[in-house]
This record gives sequence, structure tokens and C-alpha cells, in this order.
Amino acid sequence: MAKDLCDNAIEGLKKVLSEKSDLETVVAASTAAKIKQLTAELEAASVKEVNPVERIKNGFDQFRTHKYEKNPGLYEELSKGQSPKFMVFACSDSRVCPSHILDFQPGEAFMVRNIASMVPPYDKKKYSGVGAAIEYAVLHLKVENILVIGHSCCGGIKGLMSIPDNGTTSSDFIEDWVKICSVAKSKVKAEFGNLEFTEQCTKCEKEAVNVSLGNLLTYPFVKEAVTKKLLSLKGGYYNFLKGTFDLWSLDYGISPAVTV
Ligand SMILES: [Zn+2]
Repeated sequence: MAKDLCDNAIEGLKKVLSEKSDLETVVAASTAAKIKQLTAELEAASVKEVNPVERIKNGFDQFRTHKYEKNPGLYEELSKGQSPKFMVFACSDSRVCPSHILDFQPGEAFMVRNIASMVPPYDKKKYSGVGAAIEYAVLHLKVENILVIGHSCCGGIKGLMSIPDNGTTSSDFIEDWVKICSVAKSKVKAEFGNLEFTEQCTKCEKEAVNVSLGNLLTYPFVKEAVTKKLLSLKGGYYNFLKGTFDLWSLDYGISPAVTV
């Protein structure tokens, strides 16, 4: 009798343990599945593409709510026309938007953005797009300043500095475009050939701005406005590694840069 009781208890315990074991297995499997699902969701979220339509809609909603609707006077004024004091050349690089780094508000700056923020020399056929913008800014908007902004880690300048000495190119447009500032590259190679490549690029990022400022003077209407002191040409350099902005002027010569 006692043995039967004992055997029954053991059997019962075995059953419970067996069930517990099964239960643990189920729980473990469930937990593992849950963890797997959460991990997958996290991974999916981290690589998830931003929905472009939603991004654009949300961006405009933010602008309309926090800027447009809060400054009715400004937008009412701008609806009548624009009279910006600045024309700004900046690189197409997504990190260097002048409206962000210099806080330009709507109506303040007429802009051209292109690879490496270059101003090509006057050429009606080859560079008509840039020429049209400069002509409009100077003759019609009568801007008082043209600011050309270079920046740190510029891929366009790196591309220019990487063109082999024999001049061969492998891109359809990029290298031909950045060759606009070949003079800057030559100067940097001659004066700073002993520096590391990245340091040479930094030198060229600034020197290219000076070449662009010089190229602006090849536009007759720019030269005339500068001569009459109606227009000032300025160079800028935004270093996003250091968080600094250098500014200098080209008034028949380049004045020393000031860091602001
Ligand atoms: Zn750039």
C-alpha cells in the first residue's frame, strides 16, 4: 500500500515535471519567437526607408505650421516680389544648406547650388544656366553681395584633386565640371605638394572659392557693378568639422579672412 502510494507520488511528480518541462519548452519557444520578432522589427526599423511622400508632406506641414502661419506679414510682403541682398553660391552637398548654416530667411538670398559651389567663367554656350542666374541676380534683382561658399570634406574638390595629371576623366559630367577650378588645384599642388592629400583638398576647397570669385569678374555686368561699388564679392568657408565659418572679401584683391 505504502509502495503504491509512493509509486503514485513518483508518477505524479514525473507527470508534473514532464508537463513543467513541456511548459518550459513552450515558454522558451514562445520567448525565442518573440525575441526573434522584436529583433526583426528593430532591424527592419533601422534600415527602413523613409517614405518619401510622407516625409515631404510632414516637412511642409511643419513649415506651414511653424513658419508660414506664424509670419503672415513676411509672406504677404514676399507675395509682392523679392529683393534679396545676397546671391549665394553653395555646394549641392546636403550638409551645407545656406538657409541652415547662415539662417537666411525666405527672400534674403538668391541661390545657385552645384557640385563644389563653382562659378564658371563667362561662356554663353557651355554655362548658360549659371550665367542666367548671375545675370538675373545682378541686373534685375540688383543684389549687393555675391557670396561663394566652400566647405570641408567637399567631394567635388576631392574629385578635382584626384584627376590624374594627364587629365583623363571617367565621368560624363563631374570631372569636366570641377575642372573649372583646375587653377586652384595647380596652385595647391605647387605650393602644398608636400602635405597629405586630405590637407591639400582642404587648401583647394578654399582656393577654389577664390577662382570662382575671379571668374565672377569675367561677367561684364558683374565687373561693372563691382567697379561702381554697387556689388561686393565675398568668399566663405564653412568647416563643419570645427563648426566655423571664414569670410573674406574680394575688392580688387583678397582681404584677410575673419572667422565668425
Ligand atoms: Zn561640396
